[in-house]
Amino acid sequence: MAAYIDPHIHMISRVTDDYHRMALAGCQAISEPAFWAGFDRGSAAGFRDYFHHLVDVEPRRAAQFGIQHFSWLCINAKEAENVSLSRDVIALIPEFLERPTVLGIGEIGLNKNTANEATIFQEHVDLAMRKDELVLVHTPHLQDKHKGTLMILDMFKNDRRVRPDRVCIDHVEEHTIRPALDAGFWVGMTLYPVTKCTPERACDMVEKYGGERMMANSAGDWGRSDPMAVPEFMLAMRRRGHPEALIHKVVHDNPLEFWQKSRRWPGLAPRP
Ligand SMILES: [Zn+2]
Repeated sequence: MAAYIDPHIHMISRVTDDYHRMALAGCQAISEPAFWAGFDRGSAAGFRDYFHHLVDVEPRRAAQFGIQHFSWLCINAKEAENVSLSRDVIALIPEFLERPTVLGIGEIGLNKNTANEATIFQEHVDLAMRKDELVLVHTPHLQDKHKGTLMILDMFKNDRRVRPDRVCIDHVEEHTIRPALDAGFWVGMTLYPVTKCTPERACDMVEKYGGERMMANSAGDWGRSDPMAVPEFMLAMRRRGHPEALIHKVVHDNPLEFWQKSRRWPGLAPRP
């Protein structure tokens, strides 16, 4: 069975049976970015517990199914509207950064494109640059996406320390993928069963842009989402007659190549 990687899935919101189904479908490794918990947390201490979940608890649950679990740390854009809480959370991150399964800072980004969100985005980028970390970026959904993506690309351009090949712009769609790729960033196509980008639309984008620096992920979050979205994308690519080498590049080699840039990268375990 062809191995795949899901580079963006929120397993905290999934049941254990999902790990079983993902393992059956060939999932070798995943990465879980820190995000909104379905509710606004009341204190920085809530985030410390969440980071403990991401770096200790979830890797153990994944390991029962032979899946390697990696994570990204930050305060998400939705809760970043609260600047003082955000600064308290950012101050917590360094103590977790030396954990071997942490890949970098993420998913930072914008939600409603507000000034507070932009301030906290830039403070996260500053932390990432000072600590030589990879960055994973959430772009806003629906009507705010285009403007938010351009704001994010501008903020990166204004920080000369940022190297685009160490940053992935996630949730790209047809109207935002080109500026991100043209500027040298990695991109993630987040596949949803109903709204937003479908597996078929992701195939269209691979056909148009070729697959270089492109990845596909499922999000697997609190909304309607499908932890099997990456295998669905692989199936859609096969149905269109694309070669296995191209499919493997997008769903395995590309996320791996990006992760390997992390200064703590521990390597993938051989498949059982
Ligand atoms: Zn996410």
